[in-house]
Amino acid sequence: MEQQNPRPSEPENLVCSRCGKVAEGTPPTWTCSVENGVRRYFCDACARDNIRAIEGRLDSDWW
Ligand SMILES: [Zn+2]
Repeated sequence: MEQQNPRPSEPENLVCSRCGKVAEGTPPTWTCSVENGVRRYFCDACARDNIRAIEGRLDSDWW
């Protein structure tokens, strides 16, 4: 029999979509972004890089 638990008792290990870093549980410093209905996680370092890239793109768009 299958049971669907909305909140599983065992914490899932997150894997950074960019550098492949594995985290235990869900670190608050990690960033979660949903793209096309798929959740993607980025570690703090990659999140910063992403933010910079996004801001850079916006800047270049504005200019
Ligand atoms: Zn990363």
